[in-house]
Amino acid sequence: HLHIQCVFFIFMTLYILRFSLKPSTIIQFIYHTNAQMVNVLKRTAAKCSDISRTYSIGRSAEGKDLLVIEFSTNPGHHELLKPEFKYVGNMHGNEVLGRQLLIYLAEYLCSEYLLGNERIQTLINTTRIHILPSMNPDGYELASAQYFNGWLNGRRNSQNIDLNRNFPDLTSIAYSRRRYRHTPRLPNLQVAPETYAVMKWIRSIPFVLSASLHGGELLVSYPFDFSKHPHEDKMFSPTPDEQMFKLLARTYADAHANMASNSTDRCGASFAHRGGIINGAEWYSFAGGMADFNYLHSNCFELTVELGCEKFPPEDELYPEWLRNKEALLSFMEAVHQGIKGVVKDEFGNGIKGATISVRGIRHEVTTAEDGDYWRLLNPGVHVLTATASGYSKVMKRVNLPHNMDKAGRVDFVLKKVSLDEHRDFLYYLYVFSVLLKLSAY
Ligand SMILES: [Zn+2]
Repeated sequence: HLHIQCVFFIFMTLYILRFSLKPSTIIQFIYHTNAQMVNVLKRTAAKCSDISRTYSIGRSAEGKDLLVIEFSTNPGHHELLKPEFKYVGNMHGNEVLGRQLLIYLAEYLCSEYLLGNERIQTLINTTRIHILPSMNPDGYELASAQYFNGWLNGRRNSQNIDLNRNFPDLTSIAYSRRRYRHTPRLPNLQVAPETYAVMKWIRSIPFVLSASLHGGELLVSYPFDFSKHPHEDKMFSPTPDEQMFKLLARTYADAHANMASNSTDRCGASFAHRGGIINGAEWYSFAGGMADFNYLHSNCFELTVELGCEKFPPEDELYPEWLRNKEALLSFMEAVHQGIKGVVKDEFGNGIKGATISVRGIRHEVTTAEDGDYWRLLNPGVHVLTATASGYSKVMKRVNLPHNMDKAGRVDFVLKKVSLDEHRDFLYYLYVFSVLLKLSAY
């Protein structure tokens, strides 16, 4: 008897230990109010405090925090060569599935990391991930108050501004210049507080890849969203990075349960023959979008994911939708580890900030971050890269990016300071000239 009791005791102890040590989270596949969302995000960050934190990028027009949850091995800090990724949900307040999926994703990342899921640990150990489940909490409040009635109610923010038409239109400027380099100066215009907060966010972190989650169709669209011809509403308007954007769009669509399926009775069937991806302007053109802004104002590639035909699906669809999108959400984050990355340094090994990396044949440059690190999403193949910085001589490198790479290829550059002799000569002549000028005044 003693023996049986002993075994039973050990069994019970192990059983209790298992459930007290293992942080198994039960994700609630329900809709969350703004207050509940903030709660879940803060609770999740607290539970995973070694690898997570929440922070606000600003406030909505009605004063609600635009709360981000971050996952990284060093929360709050950029680390040299570690790529930065972001997901943005609920930009249109009545498109709510993305918002819920991002809340579940945050809970999933935290609990799977703690449980020792190798894939999630690798992802978080090598990537800094930022998730903004709701860019438009005011619009969501309006939409959820009229549950199911509104196709359009709550789309805009509380000032009646469509946030995805509210960004500075840099695309027109790029078309007129026929160049697609960064436009560091922004046109001086008033934007909604939500737009302003996201613009500031994009400028403050060297994001590499991003997706904005919407609803109303089932497809992934990629820049440009604004047509290259002002009178053509549905005109294919590719960026110089068309090949890369297509690859990224396919990454999400192919990993989704049925986005890329060619079934004619699936939602959004008219996009089935394209594999569920389309150039934004070819779908329909609009100016002032967030994706074009990311591409033309920063180094970030942003795509738009339309998660399904229903903007506000019934609650019992939330769990099946999570299952349809989970693999796609993970694969798309992992796609940030493609192409090349590296550091641009001077001869003394100091990183050079603001150096540009250009790729022959692609008229779009990326610039280095604070410590000289850069990321360049690129298709496999042979590429000729050039690094330049003002005051330095340029350096060219030829690289061969094989297919089947599971992380970005490392390409560093060392730039030499341009000789100061010419500069000195110029100063000398300037001095002589000023002396002569003074003499002539007498
Ligand atoms: Zn939308």
